[in-house]
Amino acid sequence: MARPWIWLTVVLTVLAAVAGAGLLVQRDRLATPVSAVWHPPAASASASTPGATSTHTPSPTPSTGPPASLRRVFPVQGKASYAREHHDYPGTDIMAACGLPVVAVTDGVVLDVATVDRYDPAVNDGATRGGLSVSVLGDDGVRYYGSHFASIDRAVQPGARVSAGQELGTVGRTGNASACHLHFGISPPCARVGDWWVQRGVIWPWSYLDSWRDGGNKSPVEEIAAWQADHGCPAEP
Ligand SMILES: [Zn+2]
Repeated sequence: MARPWIWLTVVLTVLAAVAGAGLLVQRDRLATPVSAVWHPPAASASASTPGATSTHTPSPTPSTGPPASLRRVFPVQGKASYAREHHDYPGTDIMAACGLPVVAVTDGVVLDVATVDRYDPAVNDGATRGGLSVSVLGDDGVRYYGSHFASIDRAVQPGARVSAGQELGTVGRTGNASACHLHFGISPPCARVGDWWVQRGVIWPWSYLDSWRDGGNKSPVEEIAAWQADHGCPAEP
């Protein structure tokens, strides 16, 4: 008579064990989707660093979003180096041999061109310190400025369209420059012309330069928008 009870106990024990294991498995299954849900942000954040072809996936403000195809390239062709600091204000001096091509960072329209070096060390006017210079309003709404050119291409005139990688001129040392280099500044367009204290640069370019040098396409749009939200467009230096 005892035997069936023993068997029943065995069967119940086995069933309980199986059910318990099932619960564990279910708990594991539950745990997996949670960590999977946590993964995508981390995955997409890290994916944007090496690839960097897609700028900030779905932007909450599509109105300010530049065309997805907008390309950005390093502004000097050939051997160049730069530090992560700059005297006085945010900008970057890209050290490169005189004569190397300076190219447009991205598609856009030429805002201002200085084709004559009017710099006088005795006066040291901020408006002429750049010597020969070019500013371009990118199709992303950001102004890109380069100065101390040795020469500027004839086609580069205010209103002219330029495309990413198009040559604007050559590296030089006009204006207030001793060594050959391209001063490079990123700013909001503000007054578009004449506001040299904004045009020379308001955010640090080096992280963008790092990206473009390595074939990336890091966009300064958000940082520029944030800067302008804080500072507006200063009317004087
Ligand atoms: Zn500089």
